[in-house]
Amino acid sequence: MNATSIIKTKDLNKSFHDPVEFQALKNINVQINQGEFVSIVGSSGSGKSTLLYQISLLDTPTSGEIIIDGVTVSDFDQNQKTQFRLKNMGFVFQDYALIPELTATENVILPLLMQGYDHDYSIKKAHEVLKTLGLEKQINNLPNQLSGGEQQIVSIARAVVHSPKIIFADEPTANLDLESSKAVIKILEETCKKFKHTVVMVTHEEEYGKKADRIIRVVDGRVEE
Ligand code: ADP
Ligand code: MG
Repeated sequence: MNATSIIKTKDLNKSFHDPVEFQALKNINVQINQGEFVSIVGSSGSGKSTLLYQISLLDTPTSGEIIIDGVTVSDFDQNQKTQFRLKNMGFVFQDYALIPELTATENVILPLLMQGYDHDYSIKKAHEVLKTLGLEKQINNLPNQLSGGEQQIVSIARAVVHSPKIIFADEPTANLDLESSKAVIKILEETCKKFKHTVVMVTHEEEYGKKADRIIRVVDGRVEE
């Protein structure tokens, strides 16, 4: 069976102009396949996050194309990009990005509510996912009542609850101790295998990068696969 492309870039470039002209991404041509767990590795400042932000539509490239699931999404306007992200993508960040005033469950239901699912269904679904990820006892905890590792698992629950096509994770283990880091990587791996999600993870930690099916290495704004 041939691998199906889920993300493809064509000659992707990204330059920043502030404080000085700087080309952070140079002619990136990558393909990521459906159901793959891919890590983007490289040293600090090499352009990993910049690449992730372009392919996840959080930023706008200077030139080039991004094709997701056969659609040239780089042609979309802002509103189309937002809608596409909400429906098809889930995000995990280094600092968890949970809303501090909301409980674990309330954080996890957000992507469902934003897509118009009713409240009861969303709560049921959030509990289901949190339980699967081992946080059954913490469903009503606020973020500050959770360990760093638990907060990151809540953020993974929020990223997967609406069954998006792609999960993007930017340095998901950067603030975690060894044990929590391993747990988070394992969950990302399992998410990929069990639910057939595509997972794209940025990490500067080679050891975790190696857990992926494939490594995309970024050196000085270029890809060396
Ligand atoms: P990495 O994630 O690999 O550590 P980044 O993708 O964050 O690196 O950054 C790559 C390079 O682009 C760095 O030199 C960084 O300073 C620069 N850069 C990133 N974002 C911006 C921005 N918004 N404005 C100016 N320069 C930026
Ligand atoms: Mg980064």
